[in-house]
Amino acid sequence: MNLAALPSVEIVSRDLAKESQLPKSLVTGFVKRQIESYRSRLLAGEPLQREDIVADLSSSLRAFENSRLRPVKNGTGILIHTNLGRAPLGQRAARSLYEVATNYCNIELDLETGKRGRRGSFLEESLAILLEAEAATVVNNCAAALVLTLRALIQEGRNEVIVSRGELVEIGGGFRIPDILETSGAKLVEVGATNKTHLADYEKAISERTALILKVHRSNFFLGGFTAEADVQELYQLAEANGIPLVEDLGSGAMMNTDELAPIEHEPRPQEQLARGIELVLFSGDKLLGGPQAGIIAGRQDLVARVKKEPFYRAVRPDKLILTAMQEVVIDYLTIKDDPTRLDLVPVLAMLHQSTEELGEKATRLREAHGGELAETTGATGGGTMPKSQFPSLALKTTEKPAIADLITRVEDGHHLTDPRTLIE
Ligand SMILES: *Cc1c(COP(=O)(O)O)cnc(C)c1O
Repeated sequence: MNLAALPSVEIVSRDLAKESQLPKSLVTGFVKRQIESYRSRLLAGEPLQREDIVADLSSSLRAFENSRLRPVKNGTGILIHTNLGRAPLGQRAARSLYEVATNYCNIELDLETGKRGRRGSFLEESLAILLEAEAATVVNNCAAALVLTLRALIQEGRNEVIVSRGELVEIGGGFRIPDILETSGAKLVEVGATNKTHLADYEKAISERTALILKVHRSNFFLGGFTAEADVQELYQLAEANGIPLVEDLGSGAMMNTDELAPIEHEPRPQEQLARGIELVLFSGDKLLGGPQAGIIAGRQDLVARVKKEPFYRAVRPDKLILTAMQEVVIDYLTIKDDPTRLDLVPVLAMLHQSTEELGEKATRLREAHGGELAETTGATGGGTMPKSQFPSLALKTTEKPAIADLITRVEDGHHLTDPRTLIE
């Protein structure tokens, strides 16, 4: 045991702080914590040398600095990459964030009457209009939307939730439908088989203990081959006849027809599902919708009202920053509805819609600056959307990573592929 190998916190911190962008107190605190762990290792008998510890501290500090959240350049061609923060926000939404963040705002103040106002009322009204739904509300993410909806719609003695065996999905990040049901106090009633679920399977499972029927969009995988699922309209009639709500966790929330934007499959839109008979749809704000992290709940007025009355709603309601960003995204979509040429308002839509010519021009500019060759590749939407759909894209192929700060590339067969589709200029 040789504690003499431990360097002095003061000396090391002073030296490291000189090369660091971080406040000296943060560097010192970091070094102190690291040295504590070296102390334990020395006490445990590890033969550490002072020079090695000093060198390690310097590289650990660099790694720590690099872990600070900041913008990166997405050259992967994957539009909604959960590791890269999913959808980038449009300019208007981003500016509203800044304005609302640095000022006071009318979040719970009615400027007409000077009395207390209802939080999120503008957003809820506009969302309902966009979604052609009776009512809508917003929470922190789609996982929260599902937990909250389940909690609100189940009751003592009436807590069974019917789900098809083909829809018991795991989304990623530990989000598994059976677990979510359990945490929410619901009892899962599985029906059908993995590949086939018929209307009669749902019918047989309904009892006086049934709280709701839940459909879950298979957002990150697809079933092929010998498959069948109950028709949504028939499922609605069954649910309606038994007085049971029909809820669908859609995941992505595409507002536009994805098959019209790019050569990809059609992602079910919340509007369509509501029109078919789904009574409450749930979806994410930061997947194909292209907004901030949020979970949207929309559909029947009385069900949305029940969701908002559930005490847990208070724990998952979004703050003013999310409310303002989401509000501007909704306005962007309604603007696009008036003028379909304004896809530029929502970056994910514009990226998805880029033509091969546009990509070719961008890729050529990349090649002029960084060398390499152009290669045909495939892009993907990612983020748990359209697992079947890879679309043709064009990338710069290089042996070395192009010298662009914080560029994330795709590595295939020992080459770097930089897809300009997802690069923001
Ligand atoms: C992505 C996804 C979720 C989780 O959404 P978050 O907004 O990340 O909480 C839930 N359900 C489905 C079907 C999804 O695709």
